[in-house]
Amino acid sequence: MSGIDSLPPLKQVIDTHGIAAKKSLGQNFLLDLNLTSKIARLAGDLQECDVLEVGPGPGGLTRGLLAEGARKVLAIEKDSRCMAALAEIGDAYPGKLQVINGDALEVNPLEHLTPPIRIAANLPYNVGTELLVRWLTPKEWPPFWTSLTLMFQREVAERIVAQPGSKAYGRLAILAQWRTDARIVLGLPPEAFNPPPKVHSAVVNLTALPAPRFEADAKTLEMVVAKAFNQRRKMLRAALKGLAPDLEDRLIASGIKPTDRAETVGLEQFCALARNIRA
Ligand code: SAM
Repeated sequence: MSGIDSLPPLKQVIDTHGIAAKKSLGQNFLLDLNLTSKIARLAGDLQECDVLEVGPGPGGLTRGLLAEGARKVLAIEKDSRCMAALAEIGDAYPGKLQVINGDALEVNPLEHLTPPIRIAANLPYNVGTELLVRWLTPKEWPPFWTSLTLMFQREVAERIVAQPGSKAYGRLAILAQWRTDARIVLGLPPEAFNPPPKVHSAVVNLTALPAPRFEADAKTLEMVVAKAFNQRRKMLRAALKGLAPDLEDRLIASGIKPTDRAETVGLEQFCALARNIRA
């Protein structure tokens, strides 16, 4: 036996290494290896790619990523109790798995990986959203990664793919959809995890576009969108007050009625407004 077949079931790994799930680390583990393989397949063709996995825990998804033929996996895990379990996986795939015991928010993956790089993770909600926003707002585009395959609470996943006019539409949708193709690729009920969380989850796949869908300066767009959605119930002429002395003219020039609310304005119009505000 070699590779994934030589490794014990995840339930046994958790018992052997004493990795009882900790709430403080947002630990809800995936123990079904069919499911983790499926998520690894949703991450795309891994054969010629390095993969960054954030929060591998006992390594269910890590096994899937390696079994799918990833060139190399860099796994960053905060919980030192998981290190022995991850080392066993590394032994089954010599030279393919690098594990860092640390905080993903503080590690620069580019010091360890070679492009093309895909990112896959089942992370706690707060860390996941913070990393997503960071990955979506790099200094330069295209970013260092070609795709993100990330587990979120269903409600957050819906905010990422939301369209204008829906309650979920906001800053996250604009940031994601401006420069990526974002799709929900899998829904998971609470029972898929151990322990089960209170809410449903979903896997979102974001593929980096070679260039933004519409031209705009990133910092200006982020600022305009943050301001617009900060007071999403207000008309834009009020929510964006102070952005420019002739704000109403600039809104109209961007195809936006000054009485519109942020939640009805599409990505193309927000990009036009970012250009017009800077002009
Ligand atoms: N990927 C595993 C799975 O699917 O079974 C574990 C998922 S669990 C929801 C999230 C994992 O992220 C935990 O193992 C937790 O210790 C780890 N984690 C939490 N915060 C982290 C951080 N800032 N950096 C790295 N890992 C973190």
